[in-house]
Amino acid sequence: MKTRYFSNLTWQEFNELVPAETSTVILPVGTIEAHGVIPLGTDNIIPQDLAEYIAGKINALIAPPVNYGITSSLLPYPGSVTLEKETYKEMIYEIMSELARNNFRTIIVMNGHGGQVDELKEAALDTFKDTGARVIVVHWWILTYEWTKQFYKQMGGHAGIDETAAIMAIAPELVKPERYSESMPREYKKGIQSYPFAGPIILYKEGEGMPLFDEEKAKKFYIKARDIVLSEIKSILKSYKELNID
Ligand SMILES: [Zn+2]
Repeated sequence: MKTRYFSNLTWQEFNELVPAETSTVILPVGTIEAHGVIPLGTDNIIPQDLAEYIAGKINALIAPPVNYGITSSLLPYPGSVTLEKETYKEMIYEIMSELARNNFRTIIVMNGHGGQVDELKEAALDTFKDTGARVIVVHWWILTYEWTKQFYKQMGGHAGIDETAAIMAIAPELVKPERYSESMPREYKKGIQSYPFAGPIILYKEGEGMPLFDEEKAKKFYIKARDIVLSEIKSILKSYKELNID
């Protein structure tokens, strides 16, 4: 298959492929949000790269990505864009339902953004209940928490060590270490909220997860992270098959 993005196919080609050759689709989703010294579109760049890596290995097509999402505490930072939560949830639900109507049996949502985890979960369950399609939702940075801790000996963070490493591995020219300052990272504390959040790098743990601008290390981290995501998806698909959950 030359392309995995089904928007590059004609409707006749699509008709020949789905569902005869494949009935699995990956839907990359993210948002546009300030990310320390990495791009506003970080949460789109990473899931699209993951989708491109994984699609061929599980014989899936890739749906047109949803690049707009729910941005909240970082919204005042220039270039950040958001949708209302209800709009987003409804839109994702409608897109997934349409993918199901187009004969996809398995929909894998590849999410790059923490601010919409609940809405994606709800939309996924609703889609499953209403269409019968199997929906898998992946939040890559959560799935790789343990790997981040093991590899970098610390927790990651929004625009922190893990996300910065992923962008350094995918598109190093988009990372701007010269713009980094120590006033950017701030720990998220449950006991205090501020809008806007007082730093475009949000750490999960005090003193941990600041970006590290080491490209070689970043590649090693990301290559394994991609494989963790792939193997988790494969494991679910294998169980569906073995258990005859169709
Ligand atoms: Zn992000």
